[in-house]
Amino acid sequence: MRAAVCYAPHDIRVEEIDDPTPGVGEVKVKIGAVGVCHTDMNYFLGAVPVPMPVVLGHEGAGVVVEVGPGVDALSVGDHVICSIIGPCEHCFQCLHDNPGLCENAPFFTGKMLDGTTRLSKDGEPIYTLHYQGSYAEYAVVPERFVVPIPSDVPLDVVCGLACGASTGLGAALVRADVQPGSSVVVVGAGGVGLSTMMGAQLAGATTIVAVDVVAAKLTKAIELGLATHGINSSTTDAVAAILELTDGRGADYGFDAAGVTGTLDLVIAATRAGATCVVIGRSMEAVEVNLDTRALLRERIITGTYGGSIHPRRHIPEFLELYRQGRLDLGAILDTRYKLDEIEQAFDDLHHGRVTRGVVIMAES
Ligand SMILES: [Zn+2]
Ligand SMILES: [Zn+2]
Repeated sequence: MRAAVCYAPHDIRVEEIDDPTPGVGEVKVKIGAVGVCHTDMNYFLGAVPVPMPVVLGHEGAGVVVEVGPGVDALSVGDHVICSIIGPCEHCFQCLHDNPGLCENAPFFTGKMLDGTTRLSKDGEPIYTLHYQGSYAEYAVVPERFVVPIPSDVPLDVVCGLACGASTGLGAALVRADVQPGSSVVVVGAGGVGLSTMMGAQLAGATTIVAVDVVAAKLTKAIELGLATHGINSSTTDAVAAILELTDGRGADYGFDAAGVTGTLDLVIAATRAGATCVVIGRSMEAVEVNLDTRALLRERIITGTYGGSIHPRRHIPEFLELYRQGRLDLGAILDTRYKLDEIEQAFDDLHHGRVTRGVVIMAES
């Protein structure tokens, strides 16, 4: 099959590799579309060390073409999204309702749950991340990471529910549980930040302030009707502006979808006493924050989310239903479609802010 194999940072090649076979409890998915996520870009750039050679891609959506032994909930022909969250349902964290923290799904091993790989070329193993590797014609995925979806939804529009879109939606709807009539500030107006605004809007927030340093992103957030206000923090005192919009009190909820030095500080300063602040974004380097404990004594909750803290098999169908009802325009932020051969271009566009959300089209659905 054709796959984009990353051999080293900045070295990705589209080539023929061996066709994979699903193991016990796994399914083989013919990928229709797969999102281009910042995390994949960071692996490609070498900012996050991962085992190589590796087939990246972790927002795959497609059709099940083969099921391995022991698979009972999925069948050939099912349309699916391959989530980054795959709860085992029996570890400490799963039993405590934290599927994104499952203790039986380790990160960055490059291997499947049984410690082996499914992909290879000329007998040499090729790794995958997030238990899929969907920059390829086919991905082999453990059943518990796979969410069946209706066959009438376009895969390119909904594949982001595997990671990016669900991260933003879940940050607002699940992790923070934004309440109707509230005020929300979102720092970082890229794909995940816009998805966070969508979630806040669905929850009934009435003041949604987008903050970014790129004017075009703020314009887009306003034009899409997702933000009520846009503040360019490179030219404006963002904290003062947000206090002015919130009766001098600060916003009820703050989201850091940028994750660079200073952005969490901004979120904390722009929210009110008792607010909930959620870290979503992850930059390439570790970011330290100087936290004045008075921010906590004023009863702020400062937390973070992995993948929007969603239960994939509960929330992804809910998001899809909202999409079908016309209440969640998942396609609004999708602006660029690529072929697999253009994967390096896709990473470069994302890295330089030329695209909000890109998707690689593998096959017509
Ligand atoms: Zn991702
Ligand atoms: Zn678990």
